Amino acid sequence: MLDIIATGLTALTAARDITKGIAGLKEDVAVQIKAAELLTIIADAQGSLNEAQARIYELQAQLRDARDALAKRADFDRYALAEPYPGSYVWKLRSDARLPDEPMHYICPLCKEEGVVTVLQATDGDGLGLCKKCRKNFRIGLAPGVA
Ligand SMILES: [Zn+2]
Repeated sequence: MLDIIATGLTALTAARDITKGIAGLKEDVAVQIKAAELLTIIADAQGSLNEAQARIYELQAQLRDARDALAKRADFDRYALAEPYPGSYVWKLRSDARLPDEPMHYICPLCKEEGVVTVLQATDGDGLGLCKKCRKNFRIGLAPGVA
């Protein structure tokens, strides 16, 4: 699509140069008037094509962003909100979304809101899961000695 527009712009530039050459001949006033009209039309067409090209670039960027968002969402769809400890809410990998050899894990709910998957890391068996990105702890299990 963009290469077609680029080709059109190149052709219009060539047509404009030829038309300028015709206008420079100073042969006939009527020819010069028509050449001037043609130059105006060519300039309008170039403007429209440039606008279309800019719009296509904009739409391509939006498409890229939408695809990125969809990919990210698809990844988040693998998790379900869980309460591994009363009052502690984190996102847990759904068992039906678990990949072969992928360990069960939780991800940080704060980083998820930012669109980032960050696996919580267990800390010294105290029942806490640390997010190494935002440095927050979440209770994901019982502390030793707690029944
Ligand atoms: Zn986090």
